[in-house]
Amino acid sequence: MSVTVESAHVESRAGSVGPTASSGASRDPSTWAPNEHINRRSSIPFIALHFVPLLAFVTGFTWRAVWLAVALYFIRMLAITGGYHRYFAHRSYRLGRVPQFVLAFVGTTAAQKGPLWWAGHHRAHHKYSDTERDIHSPIRGFWWSHVGWILCDKFNKTDTDAIKDFAKYPELVWLDKHDWIGPWSLAIACYLYAGWPGLVIGFFASTIVLWHATFCVNSLAHVFGRRVYDTPDTSRNSAIVALVTSGEGWHNNHHRYPWAARQGFRWWQVDVTYYVLRLFSFVGIVRDIRPVPAAVRAEARARR
Ligand SMILES: [Zn+2]
Ligand SMILES: [Zn+2]
Repeated sequence: MSVTVESAHVESRAGSVGPTASSGASRDPSTWAPNEHINRRSSIPFIALHFVPLLAFVTGFTWRAVWLAVALYFIRMLAITGGYHRYFAHRSYRLGRVPQFVLAFVGTTAAQKGPLWWAGHHRAHHKYSDTERDIHSPIRGFWWSHVGWILCDKFNKTDTDAIKDFAKYPELVWLDKHDWIGPWSLAIACYLYAGWPGLVIGFFASTIVLWHATFCVNSLAHVFGRRVYDTPDTSRNSAIVALVTSGEGWHNNHHRYPWAARQGFRWWQVDVTYYVLRLFSFVGIVRDIRPVPAAVRAEARARR
């Protein structure tokens, strides 16, 4: 199955480079379609949520709530990086149907929409990386790549065609459609576990930091950092982004070989998501982890 994804990636990239391939998304905002501009009205709840953590000055800070926030940040980051990204978007390892659903459900608690929506759009990012058809390239501006593309109407829907291989599972389609169940259940659980500070800090503050750390992979990791591979996009390796995202900052590596479960190709490139996947492989939950080919590693050495 992963072979299908791989060949689709190569084919579509080849045909997509250059301004003439644009679907209308040029660098000049005056040429953008109405649904490609930020929808100011529907963005209000998203912006308002950023102020919710300030309520902690009313509810008070408790250590229980702070630890909850830290734990939920790391657990949900792993579900996004190891689940939505490396599993659903890239099929870099295999899972049984039940763990697949559990992983998808934990991913929804990060409030980054459903697994099919997330992974389908991410495949489009790799297909058209940094061409004018890339949905969140910084060539349309840093803030566009960070958050603007999420706040416009064009990319609201799940691109089912891009994620047919997972859209065949009715339970994933259901979860994708009801992507609010995860975050709402978690918010209630946080309140029950640690009271109002649990909700405000444990859930909201943690979720907002998690959003922006994830978004940094689309923005910062295409702007700041080192380029070890001469990929046809602007991807970069950033140790700082890798630390806050449990390994996703080795983004130039990832664009060079997106089919590997590992993104830190060198021993010192810390990639916590990969270590956790290895742990799950020891107990047999994660299977067939796709490695980084020796030739790809050698390319980086040759360039140095
Ligand atoms: Zn990228
Ligand atoms: Zn990717």
